[in-house]
Amino acid sequence: MTGLVYKSTGSWYTVKTQLGETYDCRIKGKFRIKGIKSTNPIAVGDYVDFELETKNNQVSGVIHKIHDRKNYIVRKSVNLSKQTHIIASNIDQVFLMITINNPPTLTSFIDRFLVTAEAYSVKTVLLFNKIDAYDEETLDEVRYLAHVYRKIGYECIGVSAKSGKNVDKVKALMQDKISMFSGHSGVGKSTLVNAIEPGLNIKTKEISALHSQGQHTTTFAEMFDLSFGGQIIDTPGIKGFGVVDMEKEEVGDYFPEIFALKQDCKFNNCLHIKEPKCAVKEALDNDEIAFSRYRSYLQIIEGDEEHYRTDNWEK
Ligand code: GDP
Ligand code: ZN
Repeated sequence: MTGLVYKSTGSWYTVKTQLGETYDCRIKGKFRIKGIKSTNPIAVGDYVDFELETKNNQVSGVIHKIHDRKNYIVRKSVNLSKQTHIIASNIDQVFLMITINNPPTLTSFIDRFLVTAEAYSVKTVLLFNKIDAYDEETLDEVRYLAHVYRKIGYECIGVSAKSGKNVDKVKALMQDKISMFSGHSGVGKSTLVNAIEPGLNIKTKEISALHSQGQHTTTFAEMFDLSFGGQIIDTPGIKGFGVVDMEKEEVGDYFPEIFALKQDCKFNNCLHIKEPKCAVKEALDNDEIAFSRYRSYLQIIEGDEEHYRTDNWEK
């Protein structure tokens, strides 16, 4: 039988088949997933093959195979062990919720998020929330940002979780897909999810203990069915995802507008900082690349001591 993992509690997994039957499953023996070393072999969002067994009149499943993942997101523990935990896999899209104020979302945060999402091959849709509460000047800011991000290929939607504006558009995108919501605390994730699927009380609130050094806090993601088709992955306590310990030369590959110009630079190892005949700097001078995006690029590149970690949201 094949099923989708909805929940994991360490040694047991809740797996649902296409027919909608749910089974508690465990893993037989040990098995390693090629490519990554993680504390958990199976994550929410994984497709697994399992067989049923009956013990003491209890039916449960034994997982013997995990299907290849389309993508996955990880969290690295902050303590010394720096172990990698797979938060979830096979994510069709992440909705990054942004507010201009209450709370403010900085472009540096948005860009770091997008770099991580690109590195992990997770599609991101930008939702500018609370548009019901903005004055004309703030709305202009939303329009400007939406223009910047649309130009480089990201879908942007202005929404109001409160008034319901464009909630139907988000819903349409979510149908039959596996989605996640991210963004700062207070941007309106719970309110929007509740408007989309009333009664589904996801716990998107951050757990501050997650960030304290040396503390081992285990948080588990969980998947929920949407009544109109599709699933939502709730990641309580998880603020950012992914650790991208990338090389300086790689960073530009995750900025679509920089990646597109890369071949036009004189030097093929151009970092687009001070090199002559740099197509990126030229585009920046011609206003074809947004300055805020270039600034974020430099910030990531120059964050040497952090190994270009893009999950350091607080910085
Ligand atoms: P979360 O931490 O991202 O889950 O944010 P919440 O959903 O808890 O929302 C934080 C606050 O913002 C609450 O007081 C909500 O009522 C308010 N809020 C959420 N969405 C909107 C919106 O579209 N417009 C306005 N004006 N307030 C909103
Ligand atoms: Zn260049």
